[in-house]
Amino acid sequence: MRSETPRRSRRRGARRAAGEGERVFEGLGVSPGIAIGPAHLHEAGDVAVPEHTVDADKVEDERDRFRAAVDKSLRQLTKLGSKSANLPPNVAEEIGFLLDAHIQMLSHSRLVRGVERRIMEERLNAEAAVQAEIGAIAQGFAAMEDAYLAARVQEVREVGTRLIRNLTRVPYQAFRNLPEGTIVVSEEITPADTALMDPERLAGFCTVLGGAEGHTAIMARAMGLPAVLGVAGIIGTVRTHDVVIIDGSSGKVIVRPTAATLEAYERRRVEFVREQRQLARLARLPAVTRDGVEVRLDVNIELPREIEQARAVGAAGVGLLRTEFMFMNRDDIPDEDEQTRLLREIVEGMGGRPVTIRTLDVGGEKLASAIGGDAAPGANPALGLRAIRLSLSRPELLETQLAAILRAAEHGPVRILLPMIATVGEVREVRTVLAKVARRLMRRGVKLPDPLPPVGAMIEVPGAALAADALAQVCDFFAIGTNDLTMYTLAIDRGDEQVAHLYNPLHPAVLRLIQFTTEAALRNRISISLCGEIAGDPRYTALLLGLGIRELSMSPIKLPRIKQRVRSLALEAASTRARSIMDQSDQARISALLDDFNALR
Ligand code: PEP
Ligand code: MG
Repeated sequence: MRSETPRRSRRRGARRAAGEGERVFEGLGVSPGIAIGPAHLHEAGDVAVPEHTVDADKVEDERDRFRAAVDKSLRQLTKLGSKSANLPPNVAEEIGFLLDAHIQMLSHSRLVRGVERRIMEERLNAEAAVQAEIGAIAQGFAAMEDAYLAARVQEVREVGTRLIRNLTRVPYQAFRNLPEGTIVVSEEITPADTALMDPERLAGFCTVLGGAEGHTAIMARAMGLPAVLGVAGIIGTVRTHDVVIIDGSSGKVIVRPTAATLEAYERRRVEFVREQRQLARLARLPAVTRDGVEVRLDVNIELPREIEQARAVGAAGVGLLRTEFMFMNRDDIPDEDEQTRLLREIVEGMGGRPVTIRTLDVGGEKLASAIGGDAAPGANPALGLRAIRLSLSRPELLETQLAAILRAAEHGPVRILLPMIATVGEVREVRTVLAKVARRLMRRGVKLPDPLPPVGAMIEVPGAALAADALAQVCDFFAIGTNDLTMYTLAIDRGDEQVAHLYNPLHPAVLRLIQFTTEAALRNRISISLCGEIAGDPRYTALLLGLGIRELSMSPIKLPRIKQRVRSLALEAASTRARSIMDQSDQARISALLDDFNALR
């Protein structure tokens, strides 16, 4: 009889552990609302595998592409390993065995050697080489008719799928065919994947990886899908068809709820919808403080579908249009006509209310596959060829986008916003390109607004905040992006759930940069808004108004509650509290001072 090592039996135990009674998990509640429905466990499959022959002089590049995918897979597995360290010891141990096995398969293994041989000798593209090698290994194991080896085949396939997905960066098209009311449970969901979810069909989602200020979280709010990210241990516990509750406000995920839990959450769901309806009544009331100070409340838009909601909540305009949506989930770059059409729809949809269009902000965690090789992540993607740096290095990309913005401006007021500005020179360079594009359009007989639309900078790099006086000389307006400003000031990745507890916009350094930028804008008489996620969190409203901000831009779903908060505040009291907060150097003390103020007013 075949003897069984303790390691083997434990691993089988891990597979059996799924099932049984109610389990409650805690993660980051990133998009409010309650979803209750059957789970769909997404195991990174369903990826279409392209196949072609690689040119002889390109095989080494292809092998490097495969090696990069191996490195990425190893990073993901290591991250999953450290994530599971917070789980109960026996569960963490079981998951650890599985992850170790996957890591081994990616380190000098038969799989890696076999794929490299197929690329170099058969000149197969990397995805097809992985698929062929996995097939060959699986066939070999199947011939041995052994239950333990059969389980290993499954592991080999899981590793192969991870590699192929990292190579293709193909979105989860499979979401399209899920039954209505499904809750997607996945290791990770990218912003582009989220954009493909249909909120009419899917009820919500939860993932193991992802932070609260990352773009997946922002996209979930844009889609109005309840979502919880950073849920350790959820994979391995939940099975497809299990009933799951997602509480996107508190960050709880409940698997296989008891009848009593289900009933309690049904009540909460009804209560949430009632609250939203009540807030919607605020749409026609002005955003003005108790002592008569007007505050401009704009919306951040990720997808054109949100325009209707922006109008419904009574937004003053679009404070931030993230144009990345135009480049997501496609293999080509939209041409000038297509971009113009998409922008025009939004500008017209806002019916004369200004639309602030931000030029492309990809790179870092936001990779649009269409942008291609230049945007490949470097060792430090967030510090690399991102946002305006990418646009300035690809003149045709920037010129096309500026031309489309200028043409859309014929249909309503627009402003041009530049992401990740660090220097005065970058703004000047864009202005030169803008003037050139405008001349070219005029020669073509296109009618342009006179004067040309205002040009502003996102203030989201600490150096830009500290150079705000100089930047104000070349900018018509500022928009403070506290999501990135907090990340770059504190050196904390906004999309990484492992350091989410350290990410704190109330750190005195971040607040000083906000204050410094605001004062520079006011001194130089240019308008200033704040469009990071804290603009949509009522906890911060009194402080931001107290610091001198009078324009806030946020996800449409957040606007009613912020209006309610503005209308409940007296600016004078908020300014006094903001001054005492700015005298503090300890973030815990700052939090306490702010929360005390909020509890009273
Ligand atoms: C920000 O960084 O605060 C911001 C609004 O831009 P994004 O979240 O798109 O990076
Ligand atoms: Mg940003």
